[in-house]
Amino acid sequence: MDTNDAKSYFSVRLLEWYDVHKRDLPWRRSRNPYYIWISEVMLQQTRVETVIPYYHRFLERFPTVEALADAPEEQVLKAWEGLGYYSRARNLQAAVREVKESYGGRVPDSKEEISSLKGVGPYTAGAVLSIAYNKPEPAVDGNVMRVLSRYFLLRDDIAKPSTRIGIEKLARELIPEGKAGDFNQALMELGATVCTPKSPHCLTCPVMELCAGRLEGIADELPVKTKAKPPRPERRAVAFIEGAGEEAGRILARQRPKEGLLASMWELPHVLLPETMPEPEAAGADAAAMRFLREKLAAEYGLNVEPTEPMMDAEHTFSHIHWRLRVYRCRFLGLAEGPAVHDGGVANNTADDDGLRDGDVFLWFGEKELGQYALPNVFLKILKQAGVR
Ligand code: SF4
Repeated sequence: MDTNDAKSYFSVRLLEWYDVHKRDLPWRRSRNPYYIWISEVMLQQTRVETVIPYYHRFLERFPTVEALADAPEEQVLKAWEGLGYYSRARNLQAAVREVKESYGGRVPDSKEEISSLKGVGPYTAGAVLSIAYNKPEPAVDGNVMRVLSRYFLLRDDIAKPSTRIGIEKLARELIPEGKAGDFNQALMELGATVCTPKSPHCLTCPVMELCAGRLEGIADELPVKTKAKPPRPERRAVAFIEGAGEEAGRILARQRPKEGLLASMWELPHVLLPETMPEPEAAGADAAAMRFLREKLAAEYGLNVEPTEPMMDAEHTFSHIHWRLRVYRCRFLGLAEGPAVHDGGVANNTADDDGLRDGDVFLWFGEKELGQYALPNVFLKILKQAGVR
């Protein structure tokens, strides 16, 4: 059997299998390009089961391009809270605003136009164009690279852009006429449910007979992928600052700067500990970290606190940084100057409005604020463990 036969066998068998075995997922019940787009962005680096409730809530809250474009960023981040990779939400809103302004609210159906939107890479463009508009564009993600590397016995390193481009070309050739949407989804589905990263279920696979990786006995070893650099470790001291008097029962939170990691989200104030600090288990480590936390918060933010005791440890891995956090209970002593602590009624506040430096915005968080503003997962976990929510 030659390569062309192997290709058409693959496409035909895969579509037949998908017709029977496809999962009933909410975004598969519609061809609305906005819905498809939301689902594809949410599904990046996130499991289907996690995404489903977010998808429903998000579309209830922002049912149209216009609704999302017009929403305050705070509300969008709040609806995304817990999904992680928050730049996805910010980029999505920026792109949707562009769709509203430049395309009359209709998600563009040309590759050139959709690819020019913020955060829309080749995968998302291909997924929306094929699933919503049935355009013959490939949508190549990690699942697809894995399946095709195994079936066609490709040993190129999928971490290299040239490999991805080659696989995109191959995936484009495989799309059966008039079936782009179903075919791309079938390929993703096979990767997600059968041709899984570890121990692929070859015996139930619709294309097993001609799968070169399986026939060579090396399916498990494919695809070849050079390891990314491990995330840089960072130790941080976190201030858990409880309010007193009028603010009793509330926790002081800080808004992050509008650019960079976790932009504009709220968090417990924290500082990066120097590498010279003793390891957490060492004698005197907590005393040194608490002194550093007190001094740094005062010097950098004009925030005066008295750390009193360690409360808990937490950690979180971003794509390039690994945070090891130790949380210290702190007494609030005041802010050095200016109206840096907002009253509870603040909404959509920005540093600029208040004449404060970006990243210097503090707010006492009670129930209302927790329901209104978005915090990254790691801080939600800390608050939960502390019994705040
Ligand atoms: S036969 Fe196995 S390795 Fe080949 S595509 Fe199917 S599940 Fe993947």
